[in-house]
Amino acid sequence: MIHATLRNLRPRLPVLDLRTARPAVKTADRELLTGEHKAWREAVLSRAGDRCEWVEHGVRCERTSSTNRLFADHVVERQDGGAALDVANGQCLCASHHGLKTFRERARRMARPT
Ligand SMILES: [Zn+2]
Repeated sequence: MIHATLRNLRPRLPVLDLRTARPAVKTADRELLTGEHKAWREAVLSRAGDRCEWVEHGVRCERTSSTNRLFADHVVERQDGGAALDVANGQCLCASHHGLKTFRERARRMARPT
């Protein structure tokens, strides 16, 4: 009986350990710990009015610092040559849009021919 066979097999399937699937923790990036970076971050967030600057279909995200954690994001990532401490290269993003942007950047990077 197939049913019984499948049921018997189930406990033998290995449990996926998500800890091994996570990317390695980034080593502390000195640039991100400096006072200059802190000042840059605050300038980016205050220029944005402490509100996420993500625009989709012409509508700006409503999330603000009063309810959400906000990130100062580098528009052009530093590893792509973006200026680290130029406010013009910064944008304020909520956690989900920051995650979405990071995800897209990573996908783009992986798709790029070497
Ligand atoms: Zn947002």
